[in-house]
Amino acid sequence: MHSRPFLFQVRRPECLEMIPVLTALEEILARARLLETEQIFLSDAGGRVLAGPLCSPSDLPRFDRSAVDGYAIAQDDPAELFEVLGEIRAGEPSLYQIKKGQAVRIFTGAMLPQGAGQVVMQEDILIERDKIRIIRSSGASHIRQRGEDAREGEVLIPSGRRLGPAEMALLAGVGEVRPKVRMMPRVVHLVSGDELVDPGEEPVGAEIRDSNSILMSEMIKVGGARLILQERVPDGLNPFLEVLQKVGQDAYDILLVSGGASVGAYDFGRALLLKLEFEIHFEQVNLRPGKPFIFGSRGRQLAFVLPGNPVSHWVVFGLFIRPLLGAMMGLSLTDETHIASLEEDFFYQPNPRPTFWPARARLQSDHLMVTALPWQSSGDLTGIVGSNAWICLPSMASSHRKGDKVEVRLLGHL
Ligand code: AMP
Ligand code: MG
Repeated sequence: MHSRPFLFQVRRPECLEMIPVLTALEEILARARLLETEQIFLSDAGGRVLAGPLCSPSDLPRFDRSAVDGYAIAQDDPAELFEVLGEIRAGEPSLYQIKKGQAVRIFTGAMLPQGAGQVVMQEDILIERDKIRIIRSSGASHIRQRGEDAREGEVLIPSGRRLGPAEMALLAGVGEVRPKVRMMPRVVHLVSGDELVDPGEEPVGAEIRDSNSILMSEMIKVGGARLILQERVPDGLNPFLEVLQKVGQDAYDILLVSGGASVGAYDFGRALLLKLEFEIHFEQVNLRPGKPFIFGSRGRQLAFVLPGNPVSHWVVFGLFIRPLLGAMMGLSLTDETHIASLEEDFFYQPNPRPTFWPARARLQSDHLMVTALPWQSSGDLTGIVGSNAWICLPSMASSHRKGDKVEVRLLGHL
């Protein structure tokens, strides 16, 4: 057994103040520090946040080019037969000068020859010996003009944008192979609970498998942070202090502790933060699930103790920690709250605490539809599987009927 000394007798205030969700978020974001920047290889930059705008180093495209395979001719040339001077493939220099009655065979992406005003598609001509005849005219020029996509100096990607596959491709396209990005917040995640076993182990008796470790490491990854240490630690202050000693005081920006946020005899999250000389800013937030939620700071370092239930983790991370990670990386925050119509009746017990209910949202001809998922308790992982949204229910909200409008928060993409 692990020792469980004095810590559980730490004196607590008689009545903890329960603060509103928005106040809690403000308290946290007010202490979010913008991380430093670093220049990294493009191949490592996926998912990182751009620090400073990407401006186009040239016009895009850089030269007039053909949008199709066909024949370049002068603009509005009325000739019936055209002499073919030669051909230009993509990547080749354009050495020809086109006059009336002349054409150059050209391929998609190739540089337009001098004097060309349009490209006739290959499908719209007939070859007659060494000449071509136009048999149809689509009227389109089939030319991509220099600077059509962007002018030199134009902002292609604003600062604070997360680099997804499309942004990465654009960086490559303009030769930005060492983009400047924000550093990733460094996170230590410690998981408490003597009842926990590894997911690969068979639980005995009242033991349960640890699902919060993987839940958190995945959410930390999606949130763009770097998990520098994750460890399951026996309940008790000393085991936690020992693990943290190994890490070093300044090795992390954020300390996350799973479990032990409440007022139970083995909930030592508060005592841990105090022992580590963190100043505690709040201990309870008025929300469901996730009420016992401790937040503290020590200089530039922030610490959170989360209630052990997996659904609480999921909600608290989405509501508070993900926006914090975004703010630390300079990510432009977007308002993710929308109004949606319920696809089915939604019955629940009114609760004095504002509730974030796991739900599934989808777009139906430009209209956001939402269905509440079955959710019994905050330990119920099945309730969050398949969920891509929350329904935000105000305090004491009463049940809703199919078609009613509710406020939802989207979690990533639909
Ligand atoms: P706690 O906040 O430590 O009192 O935990 C609340 C509930 O969440 C308990 O029923 C725990 O068994 C459960 N729980 C705590 N940690 C985990 C975990 N890592 N994985 C799954 N469930 C957990
Ligand atoms: Mg516990």
